[in-house]
Amino acid sequence: MTRQLESSAEKVYALAFGAHPDDVELACGATLLKIMNEGHAVAVCDLTRGEMGTLGTPETRKSESEAATVVMGYQSRVTLDLGDSKLFYTENNLAEIVRIIRHFRPDVVFINPPDERHPDHSKASKLVTDAFYYAGLKQLTTTMNEIPQKPYRPEHLLYYIQFKHLEPDLIVDVSKTFDASRKGVLSFASQFYREGTTEEPKTLIKRKEFLTGLEARARYFGEQIGVMYGEGFRLSGTMAIKSFSAAFPSKEVDN
Ligand SMILES: [Zn+2]
Repeated sequence: MTRQLESSAEKVYALAFGAHPDDVELACGATLLKIMNEGHAVAVCDLTRGEMGTLGTPETRKSESEAATVVMGYQSRVTLDLGDSKLFYTENNLAEIVRIIRHFRPDVVFINPPDERHPDHSKASKLVTDAFYYAGLKQLTTTMNEIPQKPYRPEHLLYYIQFKHLEPDLIVDVSKTFDASRKGVLSFASQFYREGTTEEPKTLIKRKEFLTGLEARARYFGEQIGVMYGEGFRLSGTMAIKSFSAAFPSKEVDN
């Protein structure tokens, strides 16, 4: 863990998991900023240190994720060491994620959808989806700093759309936070295109076009709901409508 967690729980509204440092910023950073702008606390948990990345070192990833945490304004960020490219479905890995869920007691959890390009993303999806459920089981005991944790099952699990295109179940209007979220992405400077660094390995996300591709997707999702920028999500189950008019607001455009 990059920082020692307190023994007592520290409640947040949203907890975003990512397989590697930068996944959360790439996939749903603007939504996290929107949640914080609405007055709710957000925490991020990277399941691995990203030590198998082609670019940068674990040390640069660590300092970059600390910079991203400051620029994004998360309440907390935890980096676990479950093994980049070794993110296996084990009892230990499940228990580590259960511990994080019980510590932050979020209302909403974010993770990749089950089918993603990087195998770690798909594995992370399965682990977090199952830990989301298991965290509520009283008979499954975990501790934080040797203090027993209380069982806790969050209310909502959302899958952010990252690399593979999926038809979103819902699109969040992030027009007001998309530009600011780019600062979180660009904090991971070793991963992305920079002028004058042509000698570095050319990975998929290192290409100059990758960052414009991210913007194009946000514009595309935004266009689907009649706004500038959007981020798309898949539901993990059936969504309940409690306030009908909040879920289906009046029109804001003329036609
Ligand atoms: Zn990743």
